Amino acid sequence: MAESFGGSFFLSYICSQEQINMETEKKPCLAIVVPCYNEALVLEQTTQHLLAVLESLQTDISPDSRILYVDDGSADTTWDIIERLHAGDSRIAGISLAGNSGHQNALMAGLTTAIRFADLTVTIDADLQDDETVIRDMVHLAQEGNDIVYGVRSSRTTDTWFKRTTAQAFYRLMSRMGVKTVYNHADYRLMSRRAVEALLCYEERNLFLRGLVPLLGYRTAQVEYARKERQAGESKYPLAKMMNLAFDGITSFSMSLVHMVLWLGILFLLIAIGITIWVVLCIIQGKAILGWSSLILSIWFCSGCVLIGLGIVGEYIGKIYMEVKRRPRYNIKDERL
Ligand code: UDP
Ligand code: MG
Repeated sequence: MAESFGGSFFLSYICSQEQINMETEKKPCLAIVVPCYNEALVLEQTTQHLLAVLESLQTDISPDSRILYVDDGSADTTWDIIERLHAGDSRIAGISLAGNSGHQNALMAGLTTAIRFADLTVTIDADLQDDETVIRDMVHLAQEGNDIVYGVRSSRTTDTWFKRTTAQAFYRLMSRMGVKTVYNHADYRLMSRRAVEALLCYEERNLFLRGLVPLLGYRTAQVEYARKERQAGESKYPLAKMMNLAFDGITSFSMSLVHMVLWLGILFLLIAIGITIWVVLCIIQGKAILGWSSLILSIWFCSGCVLIGLGIVGEYIGKIYMEVKRRPRYNIKDERL
């Protein structure tokens, strides 16, 4: 009798412990960060789609999960719409930036705000050209232990020929210049809290997130999707902005342009040496043109020296540039102390 009493007491103790464990095992809170610049035309539609994603993930994520709009100084009614949507549904939140800071800065503002409450963040464009339904797969991959999940475009048939070709040329150029980026990935990605915290330690102002995130070094995965048409409105990335982003990407991550100047200088000097030999041969054969050799030689020689000088100064400036970024040297992945 005493034994059975003891047994049932033990069993109920185990059950109550399990219940406590289940209650305390928190589901991750997800924030979907959406930068918006003059996106009044698409916001309502985007909200419906993203809320449907949150609902489909009900069993996997915390009920506190939210959509976080970042109004990047829009001139249209974007912020009014966000305020109205927030008043009607607590799952919709928003921050408004004081001016137009650009896509990359808007993403950073969103991520900085999101990790105040979220364990997982997904960044996605407001026009939903990137298939929002794969957020489910991203969350599942995060639950399997991936800190970063990249959304990768499997097809870009909906992009114009010009956008497709320039984007692909850009990815190739970046990899030639030694910058690690994920091919066909823009800024559609999931990041865990610790990945975002690590990213926030990269304090540089010329942001190129596609280059920075692979530097974090955490475990990553990819999901593929077909890129869709913009739902409404027009692209907020005209050619000039795209070129700026590409130039930022190259100059913030690679010193190869400075190296090129140095090599060009060396090439010019070699050409000057070549011409000297030729001129000497001509003089020996008695075919020298008066005044020409000294002029041409000094042009090639001086340009070579100037370029080498520029290249060397550039190397030092480049080193200073990399130092003032104060990028963290490493990110700790695991710790057992
Ligand atoms: N965007 C932004 N600030 C800007 C430019 C764009 O926040 O200065 C946002 C824009 O609202 C959209 C995303 O960045 O959510 C990507 O822009 P878009 O879809 O126009 O670029 P595309 O797909 O044409 O490259
Ligand atoms: Mg777009």
